[in-house]
Amino acid sequence: MSPTPGRVTAVDTYDIRFPTSRELDGSDAMNPDPDYSAAYVVLRTDAEDGLEGHGFTFTIGRGNEVQVAAIDSIAHHVVGRSVDELCGDPGTLNRDLIGDSQLRWLGPEKGVMHMAIGAVVNAVWDLAAKRARTPLWKLLADAEPEWLVSQVDFRYIADALTPEEALTLLRGGRVGAGAREDRLREHGFPGYTTSPGWLGYSDEKLTRLARQAVADGFTQIKLKVGADLDDDVRRCRTARAAIGPGIRMAIDANQRWNVDEAVRWTRALAEFDPYWVEEPTSPDDVLAHATIRDAVAPVKVATGEHVQNRIVFKQLLQAGAIDILQIDAARVGGVNENLAILLLAARFGVPVCPHAGGVGLCELVQHLSMFDYVALSGTTENRVIEYVDHLHEHFIDPVVVREGHYLAPAAPGFSATMRPESIAEFTYPDGSFWAADLAHQPHEKGAAA
Ligand SMILES: [Mg+2]
Repeated sequence: MSPTPGRVTAVDTYDIRFPTSRELDGSDAMNPDPDYSAAYVVLRTDAEDGLEGHGFTFTIGRGNEVQVAAIDSIAHHVVGRSVDELCGDPGTLNRDLIGDSQLRWLGPEKGVMHMAIGAVVNAVWDLAAKRARTPLWKLLADAEPEWLVSQVDFRYIADALTPEEALTLLRGGRVGAGAREDRLREHGFPGYTTSPGWLGYSDEKLTRLARQAVADGFTQIKLKVGADLDDDVRRCRTARAAIGPGIRMAIDANQRWNVDEAVRWTRALAEFDPYWVEEPTSPDDVLAHATIRDAVAPVKVATGEHVQNRIVFKQLLQAGAIDILQIDAARVGGVNENLAILLLAARFGVPVCPHAGGVGLCELVQHLSMFDYVALSGTTENRVIEYVDHLHEHFIDPVVVREGHYLAPAAPGFSATMRPESIAEFTYPDGSFWAADLAHQPHEKGAAA
């Protein structure tokens, strides 16, 4: 592809934290005071093009240093690799990282180590798309189906999806792709907004932001629920009154409930016509989701932002446990594993409505949905990408949302690159913001480190 040979010379990491807990942005029943954070990674090379690969995973504050350490622990797998080979076949690196026999003990394929792999693999995809001078969604949509299949690890999922079935799905996805790409560039991809519904907001703020969401062209909003039922009844009534009957309203419990609570609570809110109930219980509990889904229909069941890998997604689909599959760009092992999950969703005919928000998750995941639309599922029907209007200003190529739609990114890469001045300000604990802040809180410095 590129005429410039080169090797990866460094894998630099950054512990970046934003003090979002002070405004209760992002507050929900399980996470009352998140400081939205990124364990951020930059792949540097000695190639003449001077391009870097940027990636990250999202955390909500304390522990981000653990996530950074996990990324540091796999850096030796990347340094010294040929940039051409890496970008021509990220799947080989993906397999090598998952296959590190000593580090595998810390998973396997789940939690902090797996998220670290995702951050590094996503950085490789960012570099590959920058070198190809194309946004990642288009790199994926234009890729040969055979090559895409080669990027997927079918271990543990072949009982539900074989490479041959994946190839058939991807070949079918190419039919009409040109017209869909044109439509995508013209209209964008539908989004929905969670900004009105954080648990810590007052009813006045909820009403104002819900009305604003409708005025901004969104056809769906989402409310956090699960802390107090009486409050939730009041908030859902308030929100429904603000948006009217024609706008979809999802509710999100962030894993707060046991099965019986999930059923009782969802039924108690059913009069406000929730479209889906999200993360009703533990993301590991496949059978609980199936039970809840049976009991709360026609309210749909959605989950995925904390589903740790393609194997659990496979089981959720096999068990008929979810109506909506919510991929997250930075939870699993990166683009390669998300390709597997998108293919599983297509195989089972379940719509994908990605989780986003946090730090940069909207920027990343839009590429995966746009690929899915153009070259795999072929539809945006009942598919929406979560949108949260926070922290986009820290990115070089932030998402653009108009009339409730994500516009297709045009810049080369994965939209993952953060502004250098933001990195300098919010690196913990020595960036300019935190250094000044911690100087005023001498007792917390030791506790937070
Ligand atoms: Mg959620």
